[in-house]
Amino acid sequence: MFKKIRYRLLLSYLFVFASLLGIFAIAVRFAFTRSLTEQITDKLLAIGKGAAANVEFEKGRLTFESDFRPQDLIAYHQALQWFDTQGNLITQQGKTVLTLPFLPNKIVQVQAGKIPIQAVTVPIIANDKDQLVGYVRVSQSLEEFDETLQKLDLGLSGGIIITLVLSSIGGILLTRQAMQPIEESFARLKQFTADASHELRSPLMAIKINAELPLEYPEEIGPKDAEKFQAIANATNQMTRLTEDLLMLARTDKVSNQNRDTLNLTSILENIIQLYKPQAEAKKVNLKFQLIANFQLIGDSVQLTRLFTNLIENAIYYTPSGGVVEIKISRVGFQLYINVQDTGMGIAPEYMDKVFERFWRTDQSRSYWSGGSGLGLAIAQAIARNHGGLISLTSQLGVGSCFTVRLPTS
Ligand code: ADP
Repeated sequence: MFKKIRYRLLLSYLFVFASLLGIFAIAVRFAFTRSLTEQITDKLLAIGKGAAANVEFEKGRLTFESDFRPQDLIAYHQALQWFDTQGNLITQQGKTVLTLPFLPNKIVQVQAGKIPIQAVTVPIIANDKDQLVGYVRVSQSLEEFDETLQKLDLGLSGGIIITLVLSSIGGILLTRQAMQPIEESFARLKQFTADASHELRSPLMAIKINAELPLEYPEEIGPKDAEKFQAIANATNQMTRLTEDLLMLARTDKVSNQNRDTLNLTSILENIIQLYKPQAEAKKVNLKFQLIANFQLIGDSVQLTRLFTNLIENAIYYTPSGGVVEIKISRVGFQLYINVQDTGMGIAPEYMDKVFERFWRTDQSRSYWSGGSGLGLAIAQAIARNHGGLISLTSQLGVGSCFTVRLPTS
């Protein structure tokens, strides 16, 4: 149980941490991409302005100033294109030119492709007349930009993985440390329950004997007193059962290897059925057992007897007369499946998980003294888990229930 909590705690911690790291990585990548794009745009703008300042269009013809060499302005992966006011390409310099149509109103253009290209358009204003005479479009391949981003992605994901691995190691140690006091106090509580139930056994036995003794001489006590003594004896019987159930529950969680033997499950079930046959017959419930073969498993015979007693007792108790209670065993691989099926009142779907909880009963108004303690299925589930198995339930209100116990054979 604690292992599961620890595991869940660690997973939630890692999930929160991974989400925070993810958000951080996305924010860093976003800010980095933005600043890098701005840097490229600024650089291209500066080149564009330089190119625009050194050129003039006269009657549709491009003239460079005498000492201006456009190829000096651009680097290997950049290019310059000159357009007239109508957007016609006049000339170009460099290899990474944009093939996208010229759009004078769009300052920044990005051309997707195998190698994306970013371009910036700068208007050319005639020096003397303040008049628009053409445009320069400067472009640059984003290859380097992509490479830088790839490196950043690699660094970020590597960093996240290393941080997550380190934090899971830290998380394991932390959750272990955090759970230790809880585990200790739980063990103390269990020990207390076991001790208290154990200590209650003797006084309860004394009350029982003293309450039953006068009942053996009814002529000496009046019928009214006899009724009171009977009530005390009944209540004591129920309390004895309750304390025994609590003791059992406190002890079943402990895996006691010395009590494990190779058992014949078929004969355990046959013994229980033999014991409960008269009760079932008295209630006119048909108790059936389909014996196919002898099934063996390693376990604690006292605990397993208790498990199946609880299920069979419940099945008979919650099945009206004329009903059927059927027990079947089957084997699939290394697992044994034992079905205890009844045609009783059934359990509503919303209560199916609750029936295995301690002290939970569908009819909460019924007093403890009129039936079991509500611990029967909790004990049965604890025993099944103690043997590496599980109890599952299928049920339909008014039709019946089927409790399936799965137990490993070795
Ligand atoms: P109890 O001592 O009340 O039988 P259990 O833990 O054995 O306690 O069962 C819990 C509740 O589950 C019962 O109160 C009953 O409402 C329901 N239940 C158990 N077995 C059956 C069954 N075979 N058919 C219908 N309801 C059942």
